[in-house]
This record gives sequence, structure tokens and C-alpha cells, in this order.
Amino acid sequence: MIDRRGFLKAVGATAALGAVSGATCLHGASSAFAENDEGAAASRQEIKGYCRMCMRDGCNYIATMENGVVTSIEGNPDAEGNRGTMCGRGKGAIMHYYNPYRIKTPMKRTNPEKGFDVDPGWVEITWDEALSTAAEKFKEIHDKDPRELVFIRGFAIYDTINADNIGGRFSKVFGTPNEIESNGSLCAVHYATCMVTSDMPVTISDQKYAKYVVSIGRSAGANLGSANGSCRNIADAVEQNAFRHIVVDPRCSMEASQGEWVPILPGQDLPFLFGLINVMLFENGGYDVAFLKQQTNAPYLLMEDGFYLRNGEGKPMIWDVSDNTAKTFDDAGLIDPAIEGEFTVEGKTVRPSFEWVRDSMKEYTPEWAEELCSIPADKIREIANDLISYASIGSTISIDGHEFAYRPAALIPNRGVLNHENGSQIDLAVKIVNELLGNMDVPGGSVGASRGKRSITVSADGVVEPFFEAALGKPFVYPPDHFDMKEFYPHRHSTATTAFKVISEGTDKYGMEITPKAFFCCGGNPINDVSMPDTVAAAFKAVPFVFSFAYHMDEVAMFSDIIIPEDCMLEMESMHAYKGNIENIGFDNMIVNMHQYRNPMPRLYNTRNANDVFLELFDRMGMTSKINDDLNKKAPITGQPLADEYALDRNTLYTIGDIYDRTMKTAHGQSMGLDYFKEHGFIDLSENTPECEAYADYFWHGKVRYQFYFHTQKESGASLLPKIKAVPHDFMNISMEDLERYYQGTLFWCETNVFKSNDEYDLFAFNYKIPQGILRIGFLDQNPWVGDWNERFNPFYNSITMHTSAAEKRGLKEGDIVVVESAYGETKGKLHVTELLHPQAIGIPGATGRKVKTLGAHLAERVHWNCLTEGLPGSMSPVTGAVENTVRVKVYKAEER
Ligand code: SF4
Repeated sequence: MIDRRGFLKAVGATAALGAVSGATCLHGASSAFAENDEGAAASRQEIKGYCRMCMRDGCNYIATMENGVVTSIEGNPDAEGNRGTMCGRGKGAIMHYYNPYRIKTPMKRTNPEKGFDVDPGWVEITWDEALSTAAEKFKEIHDKDPRELVFIRGFAIYDTINADNIGGRFSKVFGTPNEIESNGSLCAVHYATCMVTSDMPVTISDQKYAKYVVSIGRSAGANLGSANGSCRNIADAVEQNAFRHIVVDPRCSMEASQGEWVPILPGQDLPFLFGLINVMLFENGGYDVAFLKQQTNAPYLLMEDGFYLRNGEGKPMIWDVSDNTAKTFDDAGLIDPAIEGEFTVEGKTVRPSFEWVRDSMKEYTPEWAEELCSIPADKIREIANDLISYASIGSTISIDGHEFAYRPAALIPNRGVLNHENGSQIDLAVKIVNELLGNMDVPGGSVGASRGKRSITVSADGVVEPFFEAALGKPFVYPPDHFDMKEFYPHRHSTATTAFKVISEGTDKYGMEITPKAFFCCGGNPINDVSMPDTVAAAFKAVPFVFSFAYHMDEVAMFSDIIIPEDCMLEMESMHAYKGNIENIGFDNMIVNMHQYRNPMPRLYNTRNANDVFLELFDRMGMTSKINDDLNKKAPITGQPLADEYALDRNTLYTIGDIYDRTMKTAHGQSMGLDYFKEHGFIDLSENTPECEAYADYFWHGKVRYQFYFHTQKESGASLLPKIKAVPHDFMNISMEDLERYYQGTLFWCETNVFKSNDEYDLFAFNYKIPQGILRIGFLDQNPWVGDWNERFNPFYNSITMHTSAAEKRGLKEGDIVVVESAYGETKGKLHVTELLHPQAIGIPGATGRKVKTLGAHLAERVHWNCLTEGLPGSMSPVTGAVENTVRVKVYKAEER
């Protein structure tokens, strides 16, 4: 075992080898350890915390520090989520802490020229200089026009941004509408769930009661949050529940290996879903009629223009078959709502919404779908029929004495299929399938990731009021206020590439009256993590001042004017409200509800907690009263007001630890401040909660209806489209007629740009997650443990994956270095040949490539998915802004170019 002295020597030696532009000097390392010497003399200490090496957060840990060195990190066995386990990423947090290439002190550039390979000429500065420079510039912008500060954020320091912590409130308190989520372009997954069930972030499966789940474009557990219950839930279900898992995906994933893999052509998910709906409606017919009548808007009568028929008070009407009259949806005398038929009400010909949805699906037979998605029509029929059969429509189950509808079958989508040009339609089609099964929010079905009594507002029309990304009534202003053109995409998750294109080309070209005067980057790396890296880099060059948190010398750091080093995960004092695994719910974690705390490790370098930096910046800008007022009204973690005795003084600068302490004392009492959490790590709030409360249906049954016909989407379009038509909108790259189709109450098929004839690019590339290599959260690039594991044991890591037959046809073999070229860019890498892939697909896992060499030249050589995508209007979803996750490509040997 290495001792502390030896360890420091090793770290110092590695750092010296890797020094680049002064960025990796081991500034402060030995002095930081010296400061810790006194405490470390005790030799052994256990420190409790929760992991944030992936974007999930449920894994409570106990780390051991011996002689001042962290020697182990183990799952906390007392925590419901991970139950003593940690995944490799979480264990790798030790190397994340000791990474010798971290940014160790604030720095400013001395070379004004910016570029991927241009030495910024960094010089070290004090925190005081860094923060006073930024505060002065930001205050000047604030006083002139706060819209001209762009706050760019991502998941990398999710603890700062999430749970309404200080970073998460920066834009609102500062007053800029320009916040760009660089993590969001390939993660547009919320819209339909926000619209139909008022939930976040997605709908998930119930592994305890489900017998049959069809996963589409989804990692159901192995790749994300794997230690906090999702993998265990699937394994338990397979072992104990005779669970059948059908995985529809271009590749055979780990989840598929525990069930059945149904290969699909990348990007053709919508035809498959339409085929399923067609079978359920026109061939099988065994769908849940009672659910549709009583719990959806399927019986709401529609006029010829597709809007609800309303009475004089504006209430939607339903035809009651029991006495052949039209009644309001909330009429106490309504007995038997019609979902079929044509009626005349006050001289108007009307039909129930159900008929509109059914008719819209008539032509999409399984044979039609097979032509497009390559899944045989009979397989589509089999899956549709199995879904209905396993759903055991009409059956009930009693849990804790409460009787639920029991629907042990569900169709669950995620990122892989929702990030398409037609991604909004895909998720809405999934909602239709699940509503036909009557499985919404009941045991075995399509359930809420947030568990329990989620916050639903019942609209005046009696349906779930869409919230967050699907909310109605977002303001439209012209000239636009938003560099990402949010006015034109009110339901977008992120249109990051659009924002940087607008900025790099000049905002006046887009009719704007403002230009960005500064970027403030927190935990996001849009240069590398959204499409078109060169365009994003050009925007960074065009902006006069870039101020960034930095962990290592990545692309954003290289284009910054000042970088400030953030604490790494283990050093960062933080709290979080954890409400359960968001991939599925299972046998032993139906309800998990914790307030988690991370007791920070001693700092190694001259870094700071990002939340404290935000608080100090507000203070230096004279805005302490504004942030404190906001925190008093809505504390972090709980979202509740601080009690009077713990309220923040309006003009005092607090630390984040002090704010957490007051929040916990407000929530749980005087004795439950941070001292309690330092000792225990978390507080379990779910003890004694009955299992029935895991299901929203327990709380909302009979009180609200789901949208089966997407009337609010139509309303949104009716409000938005005339405003768009009245102003220049050519940049949207879509005809108004086509845009209008996306804003209807029913779904439609039209060929997406990927599938319009393009013979030059004969393969369909797609991106997917892999364990220990998902996306960029956790800064894994330089983590030797994670890197070594991947290099040795994961043939998909940093690979370009091709089916055996496609490789043979091109004379390619395992290990060849190949180029993948799309219309937008190219990348190069090692070929992995496998049978576990659709023959027309090219799989590129994770996010491994880099545009800079400052993290190691070998990383710049890795496969770079985002170089292949475009992510701009015309190819992205016109509703959610999702980047199209299928790209037409050609592949050839590197030396043949
Ligand atoms: S699943 Fe995520 S939170 Fe849990 S140990 Fe792994 S990286 Fe950490």
C-alpha cells in the first residue's frame, strides 16, 4: 500500500510529466496537504457522502481516509438506493480527486488569440482578482442590459445547478433570459411526459409488478445510475417475476441480453410505434375502453377544426350514450361517455377525440411499418398483441388495502428514440400505446419517475395541466430576447447549437437588438458536447469575455479569459433531495426519499465550492439581498421557505454550508442541522410510507384525465404559429405547413431528413451510452481506473461498431482504423465488428473524443460523435430542439481516403 509521502511523490511526478501551458502545475498541492497534516495525524477517518460521478445521485458512500490519503470508497449499506454498492465510476471518484492534471488555482490568459491549439499564456491570479474582474464586468452588463450575459450550464457540477442550488438560480436572480443548457441537445426527453402526466424527467417501468416491458431506445439500468437500484431491479424481476423484457434497439444491449433483442433501423422508431398502435386499434381491439372513457380525454367531442366542443361556460362536452345527450366533462350525471360515433350538438357535427386518434393511425399497418423500420410485420403484431395480453385489462390488485387497476405491461422509451427530428411525436405515440393499455401510473405499468403524489394541476378542461417544457402561454417577443431563439421553440429542451450559430454569425442577422457581452460557464462544455464544435468555438471567440469554472483544461477552458477551479466531487460540500432511481422502480426501492449530504474531503488545491463562488459573486455585484430573498422564499433541497428563526439576513454573505444547515433545521428541527448529516450522511424520509403511495393513481384517480388526443399541443400551435408567421422565420428551415402538423392533436408520419434519399451515405450512425463511459459527467477522460477498465474489458469503448455483414461487404475487419463521414463532419477510430448490431447501423458509444490536446494527445484521437451531427433547425426537432441522433454516414479505411 502506498503511504502519504510516496503518494504525493507519485502525484507530483505525474504532474510534472503532463504540464501544459502552466495549467497542470501542482500549485498548492503540498501546502494543501501540509494544512491537513494536523487532522490527518489521527490516521484513519470515515467520511460520508453521496456520489455524483454520473448524473444520478442515489449512491450514498462511506470513504476512508488513512494518513491523509483516501484509500477506499464503499457504498453505504444503510441507504435504500444503492444498499452498499458502488459502480466503477463511483469508485473512480478517488482518482478524480487525485487527478494531477486538475486546474489548481484561478488563472487568466495573456494571449488574446483563442484556438484549440493556441497557448493561452496562462498566469496564476488570486481568487480576489478573478472574482472582482468578473463581478465588475457582470455588474456593468447587468446595469446596461442583463440579457447580454449568457449563462452556460451543464451537468458536470450538477450539485451546483440541480435542486435549485445557488448556480441553478443565477440567471433568474441576475435577470438574464439567456441560459444555455449544453447538456440538453441530445437529452430532449421531457416534453411528452410533462404534457401528459406532468412529471419529470421521463416515465419509467415498474419492475416489481411488470411482467412484460418493451424498452425502446433506452438504457434500462446498466449504463446510468447502475448502482442505485436499476440493475438490481431488472435482475430481481427476471429472477423472481418471470419478467419478459423486449428491447427494441439498433444494438443488442446488456439489458437485451437478459430478454429479447428486436433490431430496428436507427431513426425509424415512429413507424414501429404507429404499427403497434394500428394493430391494437384495428386488429386486436382489446384495449382498455373503460380507462379511455373515464380517465382520458378520448370521449371529449371535437369540432371539425380539431378543438373541443364547449358549452356556454367554455367546458368541453362529452356524449353520454346512456341518454344520448351531450354533457360537460364534469357533469355528475355522466354515465357512459361515448368514444365512438358522430353526433350533432347545437347544429355542429362532432366526434369524440378517440375517433380522431384512431383515424389518424388507420393507414399505418405493420406491413407499412416493416418497410421503414425493418422489423417484420409479424413481430410488430406479436409485440402489440403481447402488450395487450400481458396488460390483463380489467384485472385489479390490492396493495396495502388499496385496489388498483393491475396492468403488468408497458412500453418505455428514452433518450435513444426521443432525440430525433420527430422525437416529440415518438414520445406522444408511446403515451397512446400505454393509454390503450390503461397502465398509466398503476402497478406494473408506465409510472412516474418522481413517485407518489406528484404535483399535478387539474386544468379547467379537467385534464393534467402540462407543465415545465410543455407548459402553455410562454411569451413570444420580437426581436427575440433569447440567443437560442426560444421564442420560436417554446417547448424546447435545448437549442444550444442554434444559439452558438446565432452568436457566431452576428445576432443582428436574426433580428436581435442585443449581442452577448460575456459568457459565464458553469459545468458545461458546449464546444465539445453539442453539435458543430467549430461553430460553437467561433461563438466563444466572438464574445468579449468568457469566465468559466474549470476542473481540467478542456475546450471551454481553452477559450476562456479567466478560469476558476472548482472543487472536485469528493471535495464539494453538498446536499440533495433524492427521490428514487429514475430508470425503474423495483422490489426494494419502490419509495425512496432521502435528504443526502456530502461531507467534503480536505481540499488538495486552491479550489472553491462553486455554490460559495456564486454567493460571493452576487455579493460583489451588490445583489446579496436579491439572492437571500430568493433563498428565504424557497430554500435549496426542500423548496420550502426558511423558518423565521433560520431566515437569512438580507445583507449578509453566507456560506452554502450555513444555508444547508438552516434549511435542514427548518425542515427537520433544531437537532437536525449539518452536524447530524456529517455523522449519518443522509436522512431517510420514506420510512413507513406504504407501497401504494408509490403510484400517482393512488392520489389522483378519478380527479383528473390524461390527454389521449393532444389538445394542448394544438392550442400551443394555434397561439404560436400566427406570431411566427408575422416575423422573419426563414432560419427555422421548415415550412409553416409542416410546422403546423407538429402542433396538432394527432400524430402524423412524414419522412425525416435523414431518410430522404442520400445514396452517398449508405449507413445510419447512432450514439448510445455504455457503462463507465456515458456522456461526460464525472470528467472521466483522464481517470486511469475507468480508462483502464474500459480499454481492457469493453470492446465497444471508443469504437466504431459495424455489423459483420457490412464489414465484409466493405473489406473491413476488426481493429481497422476507419473514417466515419457524414454531410456535417467526420471522425476516425478503431472498428469493432459484431453481430450485435443492425446490419445497416454504425454504433458510436458514449462521448470520448476531444477537440483539444491539453487533456492528452490520445484523447483528441478518440471517436467524436458530435462532429458528425448538425443540430440546427431543419434537422433538429422543431418542437423540442432535439438533435437528430441518427446520421447518414459512409465508412472507409483511414488509409483509403
Ligand atoms: S451509479 Fe452513479 S451515483 Fe451510483 S456509484 Fe455509480 S456513478 Fe456514483
